[in-house]
Amino acid sequence: MNNVKLSQRLGLLLEQIPRGSKLADIGSDHALLPLAAVQTGRAASAVAGEVNPGPFRAAQKAVQDAGLTGRISVRRGDGLEVLRPEEADCITIAGMGGALIASILNRGSLEGKLGGVRTLLLQPNVGEDILRRWLLDNGWVLTAEALLEEDGKRYEVLTAVPEDKDTGVTNESLYADAAKAGGERPYRMDMLLNMGPWLIRQPNPVFFAKWQDEISKLERIRKSLSHSEQESAESKRSEIGEFIQEITEVLACLPKDKP
Ligand code: SAM
Repeated sequence: MNNVKLSQRLGLLLEQIPRGSKLADIGSDHALLPLAAVQTGRAASAVAGEVNPGPFRAAQKAVQDAGLTGRISVRRGDGLEVLRPEEADCITIAGMGGALIASILNRGSLEGKLGGVRTLLLQPNVGEDILRRWLLDNGWVLTAEALLEEDGKRYEVLTAVPEDKDTGVTNESLYADAAKAGGERPYRMDMLLNMGPWLIRQPNPVFFAKWQDEISKLERIRKSLSHSEQESAESKRSEIGEFIQEITEVLACLPKDKP
């Protein structure tokens, strides 16, 4: 079989896989990412994990058709339960919500499945802030973030490694440096978790478009709350108003890409 063709989104994940990795791709669907990773030498071997029977069978077939059953093990199971401890050193989880990715990592971590993992590559469709919070609370440091738009959808790709005080790769320094980028008004932690400590310092046109759309969405919610008779509506309205204000201020101060 010819090498698989990847979307720009999966291509970006592929580029972040350290060469020669022992990869585990969780929620692998058609196993496109592990196939490309093994075919390009990014991964020496791979596990493709799938919880649902349809995608599991599709992954099995794709790996068989590619003649790579000796190097890619397709396994059916929930999250990281398909892995033996120390089996993978790079884990990719893409195309799910941030809360689901965080819960998969959390369960896996409690079961010791993250031992030996040097790189997490995560692509949440929504709920990026929840995932960043999980990484922060669990000793994983973001070393890169990317934001791209493809076929009218926006995707974030997060790369994280274990915190290491000896080499200075710590969340403390990551978030302190990112906060300082706000200048006289350092960015608040909540804002960094929402916008991304790297993305906020390297904003591209997709970043501006994403947050302008977010402002419009919040405006609509705020407006709809003004018709609500619930007691909590007013405080929710003002909370949203403050958030809109803060996003607007951050966007206004960021360097804009020249067209
Ligand atoms: N990772 C591929 C990608 O990014 O193109 C496929 C993304 S697809 C939208 C999400 C896949 O995750 C589905 O095939 C689904 O069956 C699988 N999935 C959802 N929850 C899972 C879990 N807890 N464990 C393993 N796979 C899961």
